[in-house]
Amino acid sequence: MLGMPLEVVKMPECVLCREAVTNPVCPDCLAEQVAAWLGEREPGLLSELRVRTRQMSLHLFDEDKCVICFKGMDICAYCYTEHIFDWLKTTKNLELVNGFLSAFHFDLERKGYVKRAEEEGFVLA
Ligand SMILES: [Zn+2]
Ligand SMILES: [Zn+2]
Repeated sequence: MLGMPLEVVKMPECVLCREAVTNPVCPDCLAEQVAAWLGEREPGLLSELRVRTRQMSLHLFDEDKCVICFKGMDICAYCYTEHIFDWLKTTKNLELVNGFLSAFHFDLERKGYVKRAEEEGFVLA
């Protein structure tokens, strides 16, 4: 996903999924919530979380403003949490992955990564 070329076209959507941003919370603000959650469970993963968050903290157009910090954002909450989720899955820590899904998923219609996760045997509490 990260290797794909970004088209330089001005648009008020998430630059990754092209969907309108319906949960305007930026990756940095989400990362703080994820860090608080992760720090209680797997503090050893926090530095990696920072690296993963930086990968998603793009500021190309900044058309949408985060409702928490009011900074511009280009990546929607869905794409950010999917990015983190895909990484957490590689830890093979089922409890952690299920916990993350329950606490942070933005796949509200369960058509995207939640559906995929369920097919892979993860459960959303
Ligand atoms: Zn997106
Ligand atoms: Zn923010």
